[in-house]
Amino acid sequence: MERRPSSVFALVLVLLAGAGAVLYLQWPQSTTARAHLLTEPQPTIVPNNVTLTIPLDIKVYETIRRVDFDLDETLARVAKVMKKEAAIASDVLCNVKFVPETVSKFSDGFDGQVNSPEEFNSLFVDSQQGGERGRIGTIPTAPKVRQVRVVWGISWCDTGTTNIAGCSDQDGYRVVVTPVSVLRAGQLWAHEVGHTKALTHREDSGAVMQSMITTQSNELNAGECSKFRRRD
Ligand SMILES: [Zn+2]
Repeated sequence: MERRPSSVFALVLVLLAGAGAVLYLQWPQSTTARAHLLTEPQPTIVPNNVTLTIPLDIKVYETIRRVDFDLDETLARVAKVMKKEAAIASDVLCNVKFVPETVSKFSDGFDGQVNSPEEFNSLFVDSQQGGERGRIGTIPTAPKVRQVRVVWGISWCDTGTTNIAGCSDQDGYRVVVTPVSVLRAGQLWAHEVGHTKALTHREDSGAVMQSMITTQSNELNAGECSKFRRRD
């Protein structure tokens, strides 16, 4: 009879000690989990029922006017390219949206023509969100902001020197485009941003990633779409 209170007391002590141990273990665990969230990559491909937005920082060369290049119309055309065309069996609905975060004019002593790798690079040196990977801030999982420059002409792009409508990083964030007809502006922008998403050329008639862009370059297949929807 005398022992009962002390054994109950001991049991309470064990419970308290147990609770204390759990609390002690859980605190550092949750801290670790939070750090883990900041450093681990997000799921690489977003489910297709969620719209993946691709933020753009757009700078248009100062003498290029709206009659030469219409951003709203271009983005509307991009949206059309991302839709599935019923007539093309391998085309898919690619739930991707280009979203301009900033739009401004630039000149900076540039003559409107990209003629060398140095001139290409110079278009991006002052990009506010540029950095090495073009991300927003320093969070590694934040999406890259694609830096898009609209210029009058391009006579240098890695391997090409003629008939260049656009030039972009392969798996990067920098894009230079020229003010092409709106009839193929959506295809051009989808193609060039596609390169920054690591898409390569596919020489099938009607493919967005065909090296020669036409008004018919509207097809993104499932594999290309999943690369487009990589969260980077
Ligand atoms: Zn290309």
